[in-house]
Amino acid sequence: MFGRIVKGIAGFFYVKSKEGVFACKAKGIFRKDGIKPLVGDNVIFDVVSYDDREGNVVEVLPEKNRLMRPEVANVDQIFLVFSGSVPAPNYEMLNRYLVTVHDYNVPVCLVVNKTDLCTVDVTEEIRENYEGAPYNIFFISVKTGEGIYLLEEAMKGKVTVLAGPSGVGKSSLVNYLFKEERMMTGMLSERIARGKNTTRHAELFSLDENTFICDTPGFTAVDVKDIEPENLILYFDELVPYSLMCKYSNCAHIKEKDCAVKQAVRDGLVSRSRYLAYQSMHKLLSDGKRF
Ligand code: GDP
Ligand code: ZN
Repeated sequence: MFGRIVKGIAGFFYVKSKEGVFACKAKGIFRKDGIKPLVGDNVIFDVVSYDDREGNVVEVLPEKNRLMRPEVANVDQIFLVFSGSVPAPNYEMLNRYLVTVHDYNVPVCLVVNKTDLCTVDVTEEIRENYEGAPYNIFFISVKTGEGIYLLEEAMKGKVTVLAGPSGVGKSSLVNYLFKEERMMTGMLSERIARGKNTTRHAELFSLDENTFICDTPGFTAVDVKDIEPENLILYFDELVPYSLMCKYSNCAHIKEKDCAVKQAVRDGLVSRSRYLAYQSMHKLLSDGKRF
């Protein structure tokens, strides 16, 4: 039978199929191919017992990607959630996060929550900061429900990883989405109650048959990443075209004269805040510090 691993605990992989969830072992493929199945993997499994809902994973289908933190495969998009109010956006941290997930080649959307408390200035600032960057922006309020309909549309049929600092409303958002689902289907959500500290292991929660969310623990600092300083510019997509026009091919876009990136910042063609994030990360990397 075909299914998707939604949870892995203590040697068992919980595989969601059209016949429900089966607790599966994966000994055979471990031994044969040395493959470690991951939450998010699409698998073929044999049913060992319908009564006990047990099975055996016999094949892991090819993955389109594999994220490390959280450890989850076949992610369609990442929603980077932050607050437009309390806590105020920490662009430095957000930009670092964007750099660390860049290599996954997974589309990232920015989800700005708490618009009910947001001033127009802040929404404008956010728009300006990410002008030209390849991130869709959603403005939502979990409190009033504003904007959430569009978010749900964007999640339909996809596996979405929710990431973001603590206190921005990620848990509130997840609860809101599940409440909506319950009201719509008139059924109790199959999701089991989850406390704040149960999000250590990646787990996919299904909003409907093809729509999954993976909640992650809030981050306070963004993880270490090995990037050569000279490659850092490639992580800022909207700066790349300008970097190709710099006078020196090895331009670091920091102190050089005739730097097209810096000129673009001066001309207001790209956001200063993104460039400043580039600059500070470049310094850390050049100093040998891994941020
Ligand atoms: P998490 O740490 O990201 O999971 O954040 P929580 O979901 O625990 O929310 C942190 C705080 O923000 C809680 O007190 C929520 O009630 C509050 N909160 C969440 N969403 C909103 C919102 O849209 N507007 C306002 N005003 N408060 C919100
Ligand atoms: Zn340059």
